[in-house]
Amino acid sequence: MLVLMTHQTRSDFDKLLLDHAKECGACAYERTRVTSLRFSDTSGTSRPVSAEWRRSDHSGEISFDFLVDATGRTGLMSDRYMKNRHYNESLRNIALWGYWTGVGTYGLGTEREGAPWFEALTGKCKDKPHPTRYMG
Ligand SMILES: Cc1cc2nc3c(=O)[nH]c(=O)nc-3n(C[C@H](O)[C@H](O)[C@H](O)COP(=O)(O)OP(=O)(O)OC[C@H]3O[C@@H](n4cnc5c(N)ncnc54)[C@H](O)[C@@H]3O)c2cc1C
Repeated sequence: MLVLMTHQTRSDFDKLLLDHAKECGACAYERTRVTSLRFSDTSGTSRPVSAEWRRSDHSGEISFDFLVDATGRTGLMSDRYMKNRHYNESLRNIALWGYWTGVGTYGLGTEREGAPWFEALTGKCKDKPHPTRYMG
């Protein structure tokens, strides 16, 4: 199996996909939030038929035959309406990220180059001169 690994800037890649979808004829409404869904309840089956949206000081409603909910972790359909989202307990953890400018690289020229460094402090700092250290 051939595995190709490449590093992309996420925002650039997202834009590339969005632009391509538009070129292929998709109507894209950017900076527009779906605030709620409306459902029809005909013949005993309830299905989403329209969405209310808001964009800065504009709002409106759009109707559709099919809905693909791609709201990611927001999970509009699953969280708010179907209430069927299950969390994997072993993945219930945290992610931290940030962006800095004007900083150097940790451990330049060593095998630890660019490695993150975490310090977990317990108790009061002045009482713990040697905090537990975790190196990523
Ligand atoms: C810091 C970080 C690093 C990650 N690194 C990796 C990685 O290296 N590799 C990897 O495979 N995965 C990674 N992931 C996970 C990956 O980003 C997600 O799994 C993936 O983006 C999920 O894609 P999605 O299309 O389901 O949702 P998303 O990419 O989250 O897209 C959901 C979209 O829906 C929009 N939306 C949400 N609610 C509404 C609403 N009410 N109305 C209108 N639009 C709405 C959001 O604005 C967003 O644009 C990372 C995630 C994070 C946070």
